Amino acid sequence: MKVLVINAGSSSLKYQLIDMEHETLLAKGLCERIGIDGKFTYKPQVAGKETVNAADYAMPSHVEAIDAVLNALADPKNGVVASMDEIDAVGHRVVHGGKEFAASCLITEESIEGIKKCFPLAPLHNPANLLGIDACRKAMPGKPQVAVFDTAFHMTMPPQAYIYAIPYEYYEKDDVRRYGFHGTSHRYVSARCRELLGNPEHSRIISCHLGNGSSLAAVQDGKSVETTMGLGPLAGVPMGTRCGDIDATILEYLMGRYGWDMKEMMNVLNKKSGVLGISGVSSDFRDLESAAQEGNARAQLALDKFCYEVKKDIGAYAAAMGGVDAIVFTAGVGENGSTTRAAICQGLEYMGVKLCEKRNNERADEHLISTDDSPVKVYVIATNEELMIARDTAALV
Ligand code: ADP
Repeated sequence: MKVLVINAGSSSLKYQLIDMEHETLLAKGLCERIGIDGKFTYKPQVAGKETVNAADYAMPSHVEAIDAVLNALADPKNGVVASMDEIDAVGHRVVHGGKEFAASCLITEESIEGIKKCFPLAPLHNPANLLGIDACRKAMPGKPQVAVFDTAFHMTMPPQAYIYAIPYEYYEKDDVRRYGFHGTSHRYVSARCRELLGNPEHSRIISCHLGNGSSLAAVQDGKSVETTMGLGPLAGVPMGTRCGDIDATILEYLMGRYGWDMKEMMNVLNKKSGVLGISGVSSDFRDLESAAQEGNARAQLALDKFCYEVKKDIGAYAAAMGGVDAIVFTAGVGENGSTTRAAICQGLEYMGVKLCEKRNNERADEHLISTDDSPVKVYVIATNEELMIARDTAALV
């Protein structure tokens, strides 16, 4: 079975075609500037086929973007399938599943209504995800399609973890609760981690997805029991440009002082905060590390703040699960940032975390970075959300 995986944003669309027989990637790429002018990138993973790099391709809407993708995949010269018929199913990333979706599902009229119901919870993301779904339904009528939700994995959280301490009626009437995100990534790396631990009956894993957006999840016996993001992806640890957890009083105070409306305030918290906000240098950890090395104190403070908050949450999640068997680092910073990983783990020796400096400085998609005698195993596991989406799609179809 060949599965096309689609991650549609408002003006971009990422895609991968995966052959599920051996889980091999056949091609991947990106449509950018949809609704503006249109740039198309196609990277076949089959020898002898040519790459297309940010070529001009008119994309007034997601429909033309999907056409570009299908044309490239089935192109007689550089395509990776003989015709579109070889694509058996399509899997879509959908950001918010609200209370509606605790698992991936086949796309039907009913599930589309469910995705629309979650629009108010993710006004930027879900409508864009649906544009991708609609475009595929137009281009490939009758082809089975599946939605995979970022929030679904966290629907196993107990009430004490997901409820906010505000009047209960807002949970009942307005669905205000912790949902959490990066669920597909946390599910993938924690499942892989359990395999590496030898599939024990009981396991307590802390999954650290540290990228531009970052979140941690406590995964007990394969189920998410706590996570740092909340109703939306602004909560938790500080991120590239997002503030993470802050005192709500700050909003009232700053809005009063500067006369901002809520939109302006949210723009500061989403786009100008996090490690960018503290450092004034960059949201990119590589830039921050170079600046800090050159003596930029605020870049160092931003890194220190990030590592401190991740470390605190690791401590909190060990408390929530009554201990921890393994910690997993994943995503851009988690997979590549050995200095950041070392700073996070430093001082956690009391709870049984012994990082091996040599292993931590080695580069691999998947490896143990704790010492052999470390009571808590620490792993780097490269995430693969697309493969997870493809697996769910294949299973449901
Ligand atoms: P997104 O959340 O957008 O998917 P990624 O998971 O790709 O983001 O993570 C991007 C982050 O990873 C950037 O801050 C980047 O600096 C960081 N990163 C990538 N490579 C390295 C590296 N070698 N060392 C430290 N950080 C890195």
